[in-house]
Amino acid sequence: MKPVIQYRSSLPEELKRDDVVAVRDAQAAPDALSVDLDAGDELPSTDLPLLLFFSERTRSLLSQLHKNGPVELFNRSDSNGRHALKQAIDRLSYEKRIKEMEKTIATIRIEHEALLNSIDDLVIVLSREGAILWFHRPSNFPDILDSAVVGRDIRSLPLPAEFIKAVDTALVEICAAGHYRSFQAVFETGQKKRTFELKASSREDGTGACAGITISGREITELVETRLSLSRMTEELEESFLRAFELAFTDQITGLPNREALLQTLEMTMENRNDERLALMLLHVRNLSNIRNSTRFDTGNQILKTMVERLKNETDRETFLARYGDDEFGLFMPGDMAEAEAARLIRAIEAPVKTDSMDFTLSCTAGLAVFPDDATEMEALVQSAEIALREAREHGVEKVRLFSPEDRQRLNYRMHVETELLRPNITDEMSLVYQPIVDASTRKIRYLEVLLRWTSPVLGDVPPDLFIPLAEKNGVIISLTNWMITESTKVLPLLPADIRFSVNLSPVHLLVPTLVDDIAGLIEEHHMDPDRYKIEITEGVFIRDPVEATQRIHGLKSRGFTIALDDFGVGFSGLSYLGLLPVDSIKIDRSFLQGYPDDRRSTALIESILTLTRSFGIDSIAEGVEREEQIEHLNRLGCSMLQGFLLSRPLKEQAMLALFS
Ligand code: C2E
Ligand code: CA
Ligand code: CA
Repeated sequence: MKPVIQYRSSLPEELKRDDVVAVRDAQAAPDALSVDLDAGDELPSTDLPLLLFFSERTRSLLSQLHKNGPVELFNRSDSNGRHALKQAIDRLSYEKRIKEMEKTIATIRIEHEALLNSIDDLVIVLSREGAILWFHRPSNFPDILDSAVVGRDIRSLPLPAEFIKAVDTALVEICAAGHYRSFQAVFETGQKKRTFELKASSREDGTGACAGITISGREITELVETRLSLSRMTEELEESFLRAFELAFTDQITGLPNREALLQTLEMTMENRNDERLALMLLHVRNLSNIRNSTRFDTGNQILKTMVERLKNETDRETFLARYGDDEFGLFMPGDMAEAEAARLIRAIEAPVKTDSMDFTLSCTAGLAVFPDDATEMEALVQSAEIALREAREHGVEKVRLFSPEDRQRLNYRMHVETELLRPNITDEMSLVYQPIVDASTRKIRYLEVLLRWTSPVLGDVPPDLFIPLAEKNGVIISLTNWMITESTKVLPLLPADIRFSVNLSPVHLLVPTLVDDIAGLIEEHHMDPDRYKIEITEGVFIRDPVEATQRIHGLKSRGFTIALDDFGVGFSGLSYLGLLPVDSIKIDRSFLQGYPDDRRSTALIESILTLTRSFGIDSIAEGVEREEQIEHLNRLGCSMLQGFLLSRPLKEQAMLALFS
C-alpha cells in the first residue's frame, strides 16, 4: 500500500514551503521518511502513529485540518517530538534489520533445504532422553519420520525393533563412555528392504557435557546386495571349480579316481611314509579296449563296471583303486602286496563276465613295484610298475611280475634303441638276409623271405624282434620297408626266374592309404614284376582295422602281388574271415612248431589249419622247422612249404646267391 497522502497542490502556499520532517507509516513504506502533503487530502487510516514535524504555524494549520486520527504533530522545537522521532527511527532501523535478517534466513533455509535434499544421508538429532530434536530423512527412507515426530521419543515410533534397540543402547552407552557406535538397520519401504549403515555419536552442549546423540548414515542396500551376489558368485565359482576338479580326477564311466588322481594321491601317501612299505600294482586287462571298440557302447561299459565291482570286492578300505588307462587299473596299498594277493585279483577279473548280449572272458597281467625298495620317488615307482607290467605283457608267461632292476636296464636299452633308430641315415646301418622257403616234398627253394638286420655302430647287432616293434611305433618302419624293397630289386635279377621274394609288411604300413601305389611304384620303377613278390601280413592288422586292411590287401592283389598271412594261429581273429580275403598262403606260426609233433594241442591246431588251407585251396607254410621228424609229419598232412633253421638259417646275400650257383 502506497501512502495516499498527497497534499501538495491543495496546501496553502506557506505550508508548502514548510518541510515535512518525518512521516512514519510502518505498514505502507517503513523506510519512507518524507512525503508530500496536500491540504484536503485524507491522511491514511492507520493504527500506527504518524509523526509529522512542522513549524509552529503549519502545525496549527494542520491541526485544524485533521482534528482526529492517529496523527501526532510536533513542533520542530518540541523536545517530546524529538524523543518520539528518535524512538521511531530506532524502531524503524531495528525492524529493518529484522527484515533483512529474516530475508537472509529465508535464503539460508532454501539453500539448506536444497543441500539436505541432495544428501541421501539420514540424520536424527536426539536429546539425552531420546526425544527427536531434528531430523533429515533421505527420499528413500520410510515416511514414519515426518514433522509430527519432532519432540517425540524416538523409541515410541513404529520403527524396526532392531533399530530401536541399537538406538537405546547408543543412548545409554555413548553418553556414558563418549564413544561412537556403528550399526546396521533394515527399514522396509513398500516391498523393498533397505539397509542403512548408521553411526551414533555423542553431541556436546557448550560445557562439554553430553547433550544427546546424533544418528547419521546412509543406505547401503546396493552395497549389501552387491556383496551378497558377490558371495553367491564366489560360492558358485567354488562349486563349479569343485565340479571341474572332480571331473578332472574322476573317471566318468566307472566313477573311480583316474590316473591323475592316483598319481597325486600316491605322491602324497609316499611323502607321509618313512620306511613303511607301499605296493603299487598296475593291472592290464587284455583286449578290453578292443572289446569295447567292437561291441555296443553299453556292453563295453557293463564289462568295465563288472571289473570295478570285482576289484572293489577283492580289496580292502586301505587300497586306493583307480582307472589307470583305457584297459588298465592302478592300485596301491600299504605293505608288500604278496604276489598271491595279486594273483587273487587277477583270478577275480578273469572270471567270465555275463553281459546282456554275450559272455566274455578276459585275461589280465599285472606289474608290481614296492616303495621304498624299488623306488622312493613317485614317478620312479610308477615307472617301475609300468616296466614290470610291460614285461609281463610282452612275455606273457607270468601273470604277475614284480619289478626287477634288470627290467629297468632292459627299458633303458630299449629307449636307447628307440633313439638310435631315429638317426637320419639309419638305412646305412641296415642290411638284408634271406631265408629259404622250400617245397615240402621236393625241398626245392620256392621263396626267400627277406629279413632286415641292423648293425648299429653304437649298440652292435640289434635283434629284429626288438627293433621292429619300436620302428613300428615311431613309424620308421615305413622308410625301412621302402629301402628294403628297393634293395631287394637289385638282388632279384641275380636269381633264377622261378624264385620269389617274400617280404614282411608291418600293420602300421598296411594302413597307410597310399601304400598300394607306393609299393607297386617302387617295384615297377626298378622294372620288377610284382608277381615275384609275396607280401607277408600278420593277422593282427585285422583286429585294428578290418575294413581298411581288407581294402589294402585287395589293392595289392589287384596290382599282381601274392599275399601270405604271417604268424597264423597266434592272433585273436580266428579263422572265420579267411574265406573273405584274397590270401594265397598261410604261414603257421613258429611257436606251434616248437612242441610239434609231441604236444597234442599244437599238433591239433596245425592239423586243423592244414585242413582249412586244403579246403580253401591255399598254400600252407610251416615256419620254424627245426627237426627232421617234423618234416615227415607235415608232409603227411599235406603242408605245402617249409621254412626253418633245419633247412637254412637266414643268409647274407653272397651265401644265399651261392645256393643257386
Ligand atoms: P617273422 O616274419 O616271423 O620272420 C621269421 C623269423 O623266424 C625270422 O626271425 C627267422 O630268423 C626266424 N626263424 C626262421 N626259422 C626259424 C627256426 O627254425 N627257428 C627259430 N627259432 N626261428 C626261425 P628274425 O629274422 O629274427 O625276424 C624276427 C621278426 O622280425 C620277423 O618275424 C618279422 O616279424 C620281423 N621282421 C624281420 N624283418 C622284417 C622286415 O623287413 N619288415 C618287417 N615288417 N618285419 C620284419
Ligand atoms: Ca615273416
Ligand atoms: Ca612268422
